[in-house]
This record gives sequence, structure tokens and C-alpha cells, in this order.
Amino acid sequence: MSGLAICPGSFDPITYGHLDIIERAARVFDEVRVVVFNNQSKSPLFSVEERKALIVESTSHLDNVTVDGYGGLLMNYAEEVEAQVIIRGLRAVSDFEYEMQITSMNRKLNEKIETFFVMTNNQYSFLSSSIVKEIARYHGEIKDLVPDAVDLALKERFQR
Ligand code: ADP
Repeated sequence: MSGLAICPGSFDPITYGHLDIIERAARVFDEVRVVVFNNQSKSPLFSVEERKALIVESTSHLDNVTVDGYGGLLMNYAEEVEAQVIIRGLRAVSDFEYEMQITSMNRKLNEKIETFFVMTNNQYSFLSSSIVKEIARYHGEIKDLVPDAVDLALKERFQR
């Protein structure tokens, strides 16, 4: 499909679940831009710059994926860069209500920009950045859940 699609999120940090969605989108769109939003209500572990660097490293095998950060509203960003589509990942039914609320609001802000939902590979349907951080904090094994660069960054952060 032609055009630019945006994958927005906190990515604190990027996991194989996020990467699965990014890879699926990258097979369909000309360009996929992963955009890190600073959601202060989530008290992030990594700074936006650190999160961006980890995404750049983890997506280096995908030549149509770019990475950016933004401090404002998603729809303002999408308009600025003339994106046609916003991509969100769905893990389980529990994601659905929240995503529906955000999508309805975004549609109200700009009804020309569509939101597409991509279902993750079943093996990642339990996976979230919060779970990964919790396991890493107590020195559990996370190498099957996150790219190598993230595994290393979490090990450094929690001094294993
Ligand atoms: P946000 O704060 O916007 O929810 P996240 O970084 O938690 O940011 O998620 C960004 C996007 O990635 C969301 O669309 C979310 O549903 C999706 N996502 C997160 N984890 C997974 C996963 N394991 N599988 C598929 N999609 C996921």
C-alpha cells in the first residue's frame, strides 16, 4: 500500500510484540514511522532519546522504517507529516475498549486519517513493556521477549 503509516506508542522499551506489529506494517506500507510519545502518566523508565535509539537498533533490518519522537497530540503529528494511516497493535480483547475510545477521539479530530489495527502473533499476546520491566527488575530472563539491544539496556539499568 502506498503512503506513510505511523506506529505511535510509549515503547518503554520496545518489545518483540511491538516489533511484530512494525514488521507486519512494513510489509504493507511504503514507509512506517515509529513515533515515541512521552506519556508522563506512565512514569517512563527510559528517556525518549533512549527509547528512540533502542527502536533504531531493533529495526535496522527494515529499510522502510524510520523513528521519531513527539511531545504533542498524535493527530497533530500525523497532519504535519501527512500520514494516511495510524497503526495500532491488538493483543487481547482487553485492549479493545481503550483503543476504541482513542480511535473515536482521533477520528473526531481528523476523519481523513484512518486507524488500522494489526493483531499480534499469538506468542506475544501476553507481552507488554511493563511486564518486561517487572521481570528485568527482579533479574529474570527476558531474552525471548525483547531485542538484544533492549535486553542489554535493561540489564545495565537494573545492574545485573
Ligand atoms: P501506548 O502507551 O500508546 O499504549 P505502548 O508502547 O504500550 O504505547 O504500545 C504501542 C502500541 O503497540 C499499541 O498499539 C499497543 O497495543 C501495541 N502493543 C504493545 N505490546 C504489544 C504486543 N505484545 N503485541 C502487539 N501489539 C502490542
